[in-house]
Amino acid sequence: MHELSIVQNILDIAESEARKNNATKIIKIGLKIGEMSGVVIDSINFCFETLKTNTIARDAELLIDHVPLTGKCKNCGSNFQIKNYIFRCDTCNDNNIEIISGKELFVDELEVE
Ligand SMILES: [Zn+2]
Repeated sequence: MHELSIVQNILDIAESEARKNNATKIIKIGLKIGEMSGVVIDSINFCFETLKTNTIARDAELLIDHVPLTGKCKNCGSNFQIKNYIFRCDTCNDNNIEIISGKELFVDELEVE
């Protein structure tokens, strides 16, 4: 499962950050997950609950911030939200679109004690 290695990675990052701060416990991990990051949120939650048990994050809460898919039109320069994966400008109908957000997947918040 793809999500299993992602969550393992997230826990590794969180644990090493916690150690750097001499913390013994991770309370909260905040994630930013883009609409087009390719992961299933339910699986992320499930893997987190499974993998955290033997770590210092065993009581940690996982907060997921969803980032919508947005694009910028290279023709007219307008920014817009891409819906239903239709990569077409909603102003000028051009399909020369640059993706500005929606692919991210990273830890953006960590609370330790
Ligand atoms: Zn346009």
